[in-house]
Amino acid sequence: MITKKCRICEKRLLNVIKFNKVALSGSFLKKNQIRKEKKYSLSLLVCKSCKHVQINNIINPNILFSHYDWETGVSKSNISLIRSLLFKLRKNFRFKKNSKIFEVASNDGTLLNEFKNYCGKSNILGIDPAKNLKKISDKKNIPTILGYFSYNKSKEIYKKYKKFDFCVARNVIAHAKDPNSIFKGVKNILKEKGIFVIEVPHLYNIFKDNQYDNIFHEHLGFHSLKSIKDLCNINLLKLIDVELIDSQGGSIRCYISHQNFKKKINNRVKNILKKEIEIGLFKLTTWKIFSNKISHHRKKLRNYLLKIKNNKKIISAYGASGKGQALLQFCGIDSKIISHVYDKSIFKQGKYTPGTHLKIVNPKFINKHMPDYLLLLSWNIVREIARQEKKYLSGNGKIIIPFPKPKIFIR
Ligand SMILES: [Zn+2]
Repeated sequence: MITKKCRICEKRLLNVIKFNKVALSGSFLKKNQIRKEKKYSLSLLVCKSCKHVQINNIINPNILFSHYDWETGVSKSNISLIRSLLFKLRKNFRFKKNSKIFEVASNDGTLLNEFKNYCGKSNILGIDPAKNLKKISDKKNIPTILGYFSYNKSKEIYKKYKKFDFCVARNVIAHAKDPNSIFKGVKNILKEKGIFVIEVPHLYNIFKDNQYDNIFHEHLGFHSLKSIKDLCNINLLKLIDVELIDSQGGSIRCYISHQNFKKKINNRVKNILKKEIEIGLFKLTTWKIFSNKISHHRKKLRNYLLKIKNNKKIISAYGASGKGQALLQFCGIDSKIISHVYDKSIFKQGKYTPGTHLKIVNPKFINKHMPDYLLLLSWNIVREIARQEKKYLSGNGKIIIPFPKPKIFIR
């Protein structure tokens, strides 16, 4: 569905960039699916009124999310982020052994499993639409509802489970067609002194570091802190604190309460909102600059790899993340340049990458294949990958990081 209205304030949108049609970056293919693969239009737009940056083409969520190949538990960095969140909630927001917690888009249950060790199974609940991930969370004994969270769903949840002390939504607000419905739903099931935590990639970094690999059909919106504050205002909630976290190339972790909650708004909120204005996130001209930066980077990365390839070197890629697939497709990096893609997820191994059709294999083969270069598509977790691939690096293997500009990683 092509949208003409802002997903936050419903006002009109202005077109910023029109990309070529691309395959769905999270849809990894079996060999027999390659021939039938569909491509979809993709444009970046900005709201004329609230300046929220978003895409035009809303794909049916059942196509994107009823089977989901991205598992929270696969990344060690993700687990340490979850532990840091639990620590913060205990320290600053009185998360106790009898606190009740609800997670929107609980994925494979990794977060709730960490919290379960602290507050017990009867105090945790998750919701997620992916059937394959529910099988994993069921094995971990995590109570999980199969479905999408919305205001309507919150009424059912309230009837059965009443209210929660904490609601968490990590990396899901940007995926939702109607973020207002999530906010309204959380408000409905959040206790009077409850806290709603959101983690979302920060538009500030997307613009500053030119992270256009974030633009694919799963991400419907790109969030500034202002956009989160707008969502709070519309839904009568209050943004009380924020921290910058090292996740997805730089994310914001926002703490939200009911409007009458008596806690002073932390100065960090004001400071980050100010920085967003200073860098120009709410000026339409900024997005023209962004568009030019993207065209420049696409050419630069492709030429960088072609130059290596022309010297008869072998290049493989690491990390079959959605954003990696967006990048390969935007830059036209296919089997002529890359031999194959390594990824730890067992759901992806043996499949082919969307749009570019590269075979995905287990990273344990890296040291057997010994490609001269590894293009790191999961560039946001470079340190984790470098630690994991110590042997490859000591054997003269080289890792290429694509952003902000392509370069060789130095330990
Ligand atoms: Zn708007």
